[in-house]
Amino acid sequence: MTQTLKDQGLNSDPWSCSVSAAIGDVFGVGSQLRVRRDVDNLAVYTVAEIREQDPANVVRMSSIARQRLGTSDVFTGTLHTPLSTKLMTDAQAENAGAFVERIADHPQNQGLLLMAPHGGRIEFNTDHQARLAAKDLAGGDVSTWCCSGWRTDNGSTHSRWHVSTTEISPLSFPGLATIANRGFAYAVGFHGMKADGVLVGGGAPNELKQMVRQAIKSVVGNNPVTVVNGGKNSGVSDTNVVNWITAGNGGGIQLEQSSEIRSKYWSDVAHAVADVFADLI
Ligand SMILES: [Zn+2]
Repeated sequence: MTQTLKDQGLNSDPWSCSVSAAIGDVFGVGSQLRVRRDVDNLAVYTVAEIREQDPANVVRMSSIARQRLGTSDVFTGTLHTPLSTKLMTDAQAENAGAFVERIADHPQNQGLLLMAPHGGRIEFNTDHQARLAAKDLAGGDVSTWCCSGWRTDNGSTHSRWHVSTTEISPLSFPGLATIANRGFAYAVGFHGMKADGVLVGGGAPNELKQMVRQAIKSVVGNNPVTVVNGGKNSGVSDTNVVNWITAGNGGGIQLEQSSEIRSKYWSDVAHAVADVFADLI
C-alpha cells in the first residue's frame, strides 16, 4: 500500500483507494475491497480509481486511510473481498470479528425493503430493528437486507467495516445484487449517529417522512425527531442505496438515530416504522 498522488484527489479521504489495472480486473471502480495488513489490522475501502500506469501490485491510499490499518507508513498487505467467505451465524460472526451480509427476500417482493447496512457493532441494534420491523409485517410484501460487522479487539468497528451508503456496491454485496434492479416501492434504512434524537431523511416525499416522524415521536419520550430534506445525514442523494433501491429513487427513508435511541427505544422505533408501512404495502 503506497501513498496517493496529489492529483488523485484522495489525500484527505480515509475510505478510498486506487488500484492497478491487474487488481482492477478483480476489484473494479466503485467496488469494495478488504485490505489486510496483518492479523490485527484490516479495513474495507472503496476503489475510486484504476491506475493503468501503476505496477501490478500497487494500491494507493492516503496517509489517513492507512491509519485505519494502524500505520501511516507504506506497507505490504493482502486484498480480499469485504465480506466473510465462510457461512456463519451472527453469533459465530461476532466471535470471529467478521463482516457478513444477510438477505431475506422473495423474487416477487416489490413493496418494502428494510435495511441496515451498518449492523452488528458498526451501528448497534440497527440490524435488529430491520428484522423486528419485518417480523411485525410478516406475510406482507417485505424484504430485509442487513450487513453486520464486529471486531474482537477494542478498536473501532466503524473504522474497520463502515462503507458509506452512497458507496455500497452490488459488485461487492451479492445479496444486494439480487435486488438491485427490483424497484421497491419503499425502503427504510436504519442507522446510528452521534447526535441526539432521530433524523428522518431520504429521498421519499416529505409527507411520508412526516408520517414516519409522527409515529417515532410518539414512542421516544422527549427526544427530538426531525425531518431532514437536505444537508449532513439527510440521506437524500440519488447515490444512497436507500434511494436507488426504490422505483424512481423516490421511496427511501433514512433513519439516523442516537446511541440513546438505539439502546432504549430501538424496538419501539422498529414497531412504529412497521405500523406506518403496514397501511402502505
Ligand atoms: Zn449507517
